[in-house]
Amino acid sequence: MPRKLDLRSGRPVWSAYRAPAVRSEPLTRDVKADVLVVGMGISGAMMAEALTARGLSVIAVDRRGPMLGSTPATTALVQFEIDEPLRDLSDMIGKPAAEQAWRRSRLAVDGLRARIAELGIECRLAERPSLYVAGNTKGPGELRKEAEARRSAGIHATYLPAQALKEQFGVARDGAILSHGNLALDPLKLTAGLLLKALERKARFYTPVEATALEGSGDAVVVATRDGPTITTRHVVLASGYELMDGVPATGHKIISTWALATKRQPRAIWPQAAFIWEASDPYLYMRATADGSVICGGEDEDFSDEDKRNALLPEKSVRIAEKLAKLMPQLDTTPDFTWTGSFGTTATGLPYIGALPGKTNVHAVLGYGGNGITFSQIASEVVGTAIAGGEDSDAALFAFGRTGMRRRIADVAGRLIG
Ligand SMILES: Cc1cc2nc3c(=O)[nH]c(=O)nc-3n(C[C@H](O)[C@H](O)[C@H](O)COP(=O)(O)OP(=O)(O)OC[C@H]3O[C@@H](n4cnc5c(N)ncnc54)[C@H](O)[C@@H]3O)c2cc1C
Repeated sequence: MPRKLDLRSGRPVWSAYRAPAVRSEPLTRDVKADVLVVGMGISGAMMAEALTARGLSVIAVDRRGPMLGSTPATTALVQFEIDEPLRDLSDMIGKPAAEQAWRRSRLAVDGLRARIAELGIECRLAERPSLYVAGNTKGPGELRKEAEARRSAGIHATYLPAQALKEQFGVARDGAILSHGNLALDPLKLTAGLLLKALERKARFYTPVEATALEGSGDAVVVATRDGPTITTRHVVLASGYELMDGVPATGHKIISTWALATKRQPRAIWPQAAFIWEASDPYLYMRATADGSVICGGEDEDFSDEDKRNALLPEKSVRIAEKLAKLMPQLDTTPDFTWTGSFGTTATGLPYIGALPGKTNVHAVLGYGGNGITFSQIASEVVGTAIAGGEDSDAALFAFGRTGMRRRIADVAGRLIG
């Protein structure tokens, strides 16, 4: 087993809001079900809800407890704009696959909105426009071309020149791409809501339980746990976040570090439509508002995973993020009320790995989410849910382990070399 990671530290803003409690019990004897989900963050919660909705019996376990992994650290901008701009992704994996990934991501955000409405989950959901603003990696000319590329893939996007950007959103930058239909939400309320739906449908939750080994044979996978009892199921889904179990290929996947802050509540100072803002810069900066008017701002990513070094940088990075925020939004009080930092998994292409492990059709895994983790968790619950029900999602190959296609393989190998 890999070591347990120190996934985050500091105090995320979500600790100020109460999420419903999710009941779980210790595992004291061997148990059986149709599916075992390992991990009870947003990915495991989406999976457990989707699988119980299909009438399957589900057990979920977590070595820490429900919602105690990386999910509390998310800033929860649920966006369809994936980390790699469409034109850049096209250069990496070819235009048809890149357009397919972008369109699926767009559909996933719509799908999540519909899912939350259908299940009646109260998670302070609000639809938000987003602005991808010019910075030191993409200037106005490139953003204009990127907006055009998105439109020709059937994804609505409008290029705003500097003046329109200032007039409509109060942002003083050289230009931006305006998109619609992204989601601001409280990630812990959403995760709890999904887990509680699964519980209503008789899912069983056991914590703290650490899955230590998998033995698959035919239609039954036997999962060993650290304290002894075994779990026997037809399928296993590894939704274990950035902590990968043995046997999960970490192709092109690497862990980096990121930082975030949230200000005091200041609803009157929030910019028009509380649009998500993402700066095309390196290091990048992004921001959103909470439902009650705090501003969450993050970025400053560093390419290392050392947790002590990451935690020690929290004060310095918070000052830096607050300064950048003040520059972009001079009307705000940018003094941080909350500051936090976390590990973050990325892949060379920004696309996650989702699907059955090579050679193990009944063991599925989800990893490598980047800045769109929640959107990718939604896609994972769709793709894996369909596979376990015996079907095949039409986009499954795009996210699969051992992806096909020469350009994708080259991108993955390049990722492995730099990873
Ligand atoms: C600062 C920050 C900002 C972010 N911002 C965004 C954003 O704006 N939008 C977005 O979409 N995404 C964002 N992300 C990414 C997003 O937060 C993650 O993709 C998401 O939370 C991952 O959820 P998860 O359920 O996969 O992992 P986790 O929440 O970590 O859950 C995995 C669980 O598995 C358990 N586990 C691991 N191994 C085992 C084992 N062997 N046995 C039993 N249990 C095990 C762990 O204890 C853990 O609880 C951000 C991340 C960070 C750190």
